[in-house]
Amino acid sequence: MNTKAAYVKSQRQDRDHHCHWPGCEKQVPPAMWGCRAHWFKLPKELRDDIWRAYRPGQEKDMRPSRQYLEVADKVQRWIHENHPPQRAAEQPRGLFD
Ligand SMILES: [Zn+2]
Repeated sequence: MNTKAAYVKSQRQDRDHHCHWPGCEKQVPPAMWGCRAHWFKLPKELRDDIWRAYRPGQEKDMRPSRQYLEVADKVQRWIHENHPPQRAAEQPRGLFD
């Protein structure tokens, strides 16, 4: 395990911060991109890109690199193209009746 991964795994939920998957409200430590389920929905290249661009501590000083922001954007575009949000019309009827 590399030290970056060890750092992220050691981080706790110390403030309100949720998964970056659109619509996911799951709380994850600020050092993590998102919840486990959604993280592993991303293709490995994107996960690798995030790892490379991530700088330990950026979630504390709130100064992610430009590179990280670009990767984060790319991830959002990928999600939008590959997992578009379900439209209301596609939701099963009567689910919450
Ligand atoms: Zn999530």
